Amino acid sequence: MPDVGSILELLQGAESLGRLHSREDAYRETSDRLLRFLGGRYSLMYKVSTERDGMHVHPLGWRIAGEEEDHWISADAMLPRFDPAPLLADCHRSQTGCSVQCNGGDWTVAFAIGEPLAAQWLLEVHCEHNPTPDKLEAAALFLRCFYNQQLQWEYANLDTLTHLLNRKTFEENFDQLIDQAARAQFERQRPVGPKELARPCWLGVIDIDHFKRVNDTYGHLFGDEVLIRVADLMRHSFRASDKLFRFGGEEFVVMIYHAEPDVVGLIFDRFRRAVEDYPFPQIGRVTCSVGFTRIDPSRLHAELLGRADEALYYSKDNGRNQTSDYEALVREGKLTSHDGAAADHQAEADIFFD
Ligand code: GH3
Ligand code: MG
Ligand code: MG
Repeated sequence: MPDVGSILELLQGAESLGRLHSREDAYRETSDRLLRFLGGRYSLMYKVSTERDGMHVHPLGWRIAGEEEDHWISADAMLPRFDPAPLLADCHRSQTGCSVQCNGGDWTVAFAIGEPLAAQWLLEVHCEHNPTPDKLEAAALFLRCFYNQQLQWEYANLDTLTHLLNRKTFEENFDQLIDQAARAQFERQRPVGPKELARPCWLGVIDIDHFKRVNDTYGHLFGDEVLIRVADLMRHSFRASDKLFRFGGEEFVVMIYHAEPDVVGLIFDRFRRAVEDYPFPQIGRVTCSVGFTRIDPSRLHAELLGRADEALYYSKDNGRNQTSDYEALVREGKLTSHDGAAADHQAEADIFFD
């Protein structure tokens, strides 16, 4: 039997999962608790998604035992040492959804988290010893609690049609994005420290072009199918650590964490092109317009969103099916910056909610 102390700690972890608001916190808590419970050296967590073209496994983050810093932001920058797909297949083959393999002195314990043969997450823990069957059973039960909590989280936070984050979660995520942009500013002034965290953060707004025509010509159900396919293209085009929202009707928002200014335009435009090139069944070609802005952490939510929106409307007014960068448009004199105007609006609005 695992000792009572470690079981208690695991139970406390299971209890605390229900109180965590953000998905990243639940990932952190889960992999930390399991790493300690199994006495592992490090753990890696992946999201598994099943799409029309098969199963995809994206790294979410990793944790090294005893290290303060964890790695949940821009985890895609990490190259997994092993391709996790065979590990997932091994978990799916076993009755328990768990796989234990030994490579030299390294025991790789992997858990498929989700329904049998349809895992939604994969957690990999590297240990020096082979965990006992009791420990593995307790760990699997703990992960069941994580899974149940995630199902509830999804029900409350995801858009039912596209499974992107819903509008309700936007403000809370916006605060986190601004915190990360402030952290990037701080890291840029330090001579040492993680380089990738010194890169700025970005907010993009996407709107499908002439979407009303799709509904009017082919009907609402075909319109819905376009929204689902566009959401799939978003999941493919952006990194797993970027935040993707359905903001309303046919409007989407993307939060990009820690990307260099010279690549961010390419990232958004790669998505725009992916939509343009995608053969939508029956409908054929659909396009979208994009506007984005860099997150200046000294600015208010309304102002930053206003900037991305202005860039989007620039794209719409100049022929649609294009990507516009707010800061570049201001530099080129194509848009006038009204710094402060949105701040005044927000200050006025805040008076009513104080
Ligand atoms: P623009 O290029 O200027 O963006 O034109 P548009 O036609 O895309 O924009 P407009 O705002 O005129 O129309 C948006 C349409 O989106 C109107 C509405 O019926 C449709 N819509 C909003 N939500 C949904 C939805 O959930 N499903 C479907 N099928 N249509 C929706
Ligand atoms: Mg539109
Ligand atoms: Mg719109």
